[in-house]
Amino acid sequence: MNLIVCYALFFSLPKLILSFLQLNFIRQEKAKPPYILESSAFLKAADYASVREKIAIYNVSLDFLLMSFWILFGFSALDSALELSPLMKSVVFVLVFLVVGALVNLPFEAYQTLVIDKKFGFAKGGMKLFITDTLKSFALLLIVSGILIFVFSWIILEVRFWEVYVFLFGAVLLIGINFLYPLLIAPMFNKFTPLENPKLQDKITALLHRVGFQSKGVFVMDASRRDGRLNAYFAGLGRAKRVILFDTLLEKISSDSILAVLGHELGHFKHYDIYKMLGLVLGFFGVLLFVVANLPESLFVEANLERSAHALIVFLLLLSSPIGLYFMLLVNWRSCQNEFAADRFGAELTSAESLSNALLVLVKENNSFPLAHPLYMRFFYSHPPLMARLMALGCANLANQPQNIQKV
Ligand SMILES: [Zn+2]
Repeated sequence: MNLIVCYALFFSLPKLILSFLQLNFIRQEKAKPPYILESSAFLKAADYASVREKIAIYNVSLDFLLMSFWILFGFSALDSALELSPLMKSVVFVLVFLVVGALVNLPFEAYQTLVIDKKFGFAKGGMKLFITDTLKSFALLLIVSGILIFVFSWIILEVRFWEVYVFLFGAVLLIGINFLYPLLIAPMFNKFTPLENPKLQDKITALLHRVGFQSKGVFVMDASRRDGRLNAYFAGLGRAKRVILFDTLLEKISSDSILAVLGHELGHFKHYDIYKMLGLVLGFFGVLLFVVANLPESLFVEANLERSAHALIVFLLLLSSPIGLYFMLLVNWRSCQNEFAADRFGAELTSAESLSNALLVLVKENNSFPLAHPLYMRFFYSHPPLMARLMALGCANLANQPQNIQKV
């Protein structure tokens, strides 16, 4: 019972409390005069944030029930049902655990994408795109996790101090994915075409040149196919970097603002933020491995499992959520500092006003509610709230100018 109680006390309950704090916060803000967004958009953003939070509450509750089910009956039932060699048993055991989790989550995802996001005008793809996306994700989950679990299990079964080798393997993999994701995985979900706007292309090239940024070109991603939200990012590491602009971004903001957004992204690049964040993630992975490798025997007894490869991997997965929740406090704190620094960099490279205007449009178009409960923000926000960023840029006045409020 200890394990379930601890999971509830340190993970499910705090998450529920945060959700209720946030719901309450939005309800109070909704009653105030609107800021940043015009009245109807403000109310819409508040409603969207509330609905998402309510879905999160169901999700946390279901996650708790599922995890109790596994510990009380599921693990031992699955363990005795599988009669395979230790290595194969480990792979199948963990895959079943993952697939059941994904299937239980599927109705929520369908509801979020097909009903809620559609209602708020985000999801544009409809049922067919959702099904093909889901099938692709499932295939990817089976293949990628299958291979990963196979390697992890093999290391655990064959090597002493397995946690060290799993860590090294994970580190190589994580860095590899950062190189390969934009080239191999992202094209499975979206189309990337070279930017066909010579004027903008020239301005971008000049900007990149000023900071000494080498890239494999500027690409436009067909984000509008499934989503109305805007973004721009650099994908990949080293020389394989690409500048990715969402097609939605090109439609919605001026080229000065696009340059300002890129200037902000270049700030991240100049400050090595990607590497710092990778370092933090690896630190988290290391801590997690250390904890799991040193779990007391009593926990395995409680979960009706022997200390085996699959038991260790399942504990790794189970504990990653609660440990991750608190670890995110550190990650988000660091990330917000990085955002302010990147804003300063982008503002110096272009202008504080272009960047502020871009940020304003991003927040409006993304339907994000401009504020959140302070505690909620610490746990879940990797970016500082818009008002804080505008203030740091010395452009807080823009938020309340009528022409900006009516723009969208
Ligand atoms: Zn940023």
